[in-house]
Amino acid sequence: MKDRIGRTIDYLRVSVTDRCDLRCVYCMPEEGIPPKCHEEILRFADIERICRQAALLGIRKIKITGGEPLVRRRVELLIRSLKAIPEIEQITMTTNGVLLADKLPALIDAGLDAVTVSLDTLDRERFRMLTRRDELENVKKSIQAVIEDGRLPLKINCVPMEDQDPEDLAAVAAYAKDHPVHVRFIEMMPIGLGKDCGFLSEEQLISRLEPFTGKLVPVDEQLGNGPAHYYRAEGYAGRIGFISAVSHKFCSGCNRVRLTADGFLKSCLQFETGEDLRPVLAAGSDEDLAEAIKKAILKKPEGHHFDNVDAAGAEHRIMSQIGG
Ligand code: SAM
Ligand code: SF4
Repeated sequence: MKDRIGRTIDYLRVSVTDRCDLRCVYCMPEEGIPPKCHEEILRFADIERICRQAALLGIRKIKITGGEPLVRRRVELLIRSLKAIPEIEQITMTTNGVLLADKLPALIDAGLDAVTVSLDTLDRERFRMLTRRDELENVKKSIQAVIEDGRLPLKINCVPMEDQDPEDLAAVAAYAKDHPVHVRFIEMMPIGLGKDCGFLSEEQLISRLEPFTGKLVPVDEQLGNGPAHYYRAEGYAGRIGFISAVSHKFCSGCNRVRLTADGFLKSCLQFETGEDLRPVLAAGSDEDLAEAIKKAILKKPEGHHFDNVDAAGAEHRIMSQIGG
C-alpha cells in the first residue's frame, strides 16, 4: 500500500527476539538488556497472522532479524510458514553469523531466499572488543559455509568506525573480491548506543578503501530491497555497497515498516510512531488487525532527523530491540 506521501510500503522487517549472543558496542550494553518474558514475545502464530494481513496490504518481502534471529529456537519453522503466504515473494535474514553454519541446512530447507551476515572487522582482537565476545572464527566459518554451499545469495554488512584501520576495512571488502558476495558499509546511525560511537561517512570511507580496492566506480544496479547504492572495483566478483542514512538521506524512497519482537509495528527507525498490535492480536478480528497495520503505515513520518537525536517522539528502544 501507499503511505500518506505516496511511498509504496512493500517491505517488513520482523524482529523475532530482543536477545543476542553478542554485545556490539553500538547496539547493546555490556550487561545486555532485561530480557522480555516469553508471554511478551510474539508467538510464531501471531507473527504469521500479522504477516498474512500485511501481505494482503502489499507487503512482498520480509526480513527476519533480532536481536539475533538464530537464538530464537526453531526459527526455521517461522520461515517455512511465512513462505506459504502466497503474496510473499522473498524471505531473507540478517544475522551476526555465530550460529549460521549449524543452522544453514535447516534454513535453506525451510525456504530462506538470501542471508546477510554482519561483520565489522576481521581482526580478532577488535572483534572481541566490538562485540565483547570471541566469536570471529565462528562467523568466518559461517560465511565460508554459505559460500561453499552456494545456494543462498550472501551479503555482508559492515558498520565501520572512525578509529578503524583502513587495512581492516579493506579486508572485509575483499570478501567481494574473491566471491560473488556484495559487501555493504553502513553509516553508524545516532540511534541508541550508536550516538556515542565514532562515525565514518561514505566519502571518508571511500577515500580509505580506494588505496586497496582501486577506483570505486558507481553502478546503477538494484541489488536488494533497500537503499544501498553500489560501486564496482576492478577484479572484484561482487559489488561494494553503501547504506548512508546520515550523509545521503534516503527517506523519500523508504519502503519499509518494522515489527518488534513484542508486537509493536514501527513506521520509522528514528521515531516511536506506530501501532501496538498486541491488543488487536488478543481480542480483534483479522480486519481489525489489517486496520491497525494500515494506521501504522499512514502515520509514517516523512523522514528522520538524525541531526536532532532528541527530537520529539524520538525512539527510546535500542537497535537490538528494533532489528536494524
Ligand atoms: N543480530 C543481527 C545482526 O547483527 O545482523 C540482526 C540485528 S542487528 C540490530 C542488524 C544490523 O543493524 C546489523 O548489521 C548491525 O550492525 C546494525 N546496527 C546496529 N546498530 C546500528 C547503528 N547504530 N547504526 C547502524 N547500524 C547499526
Ligand atoms: Fe547483537 Fe546484531 Fe546488535 Fe550485534 S548488531 S549486538 S549481533 S543484535
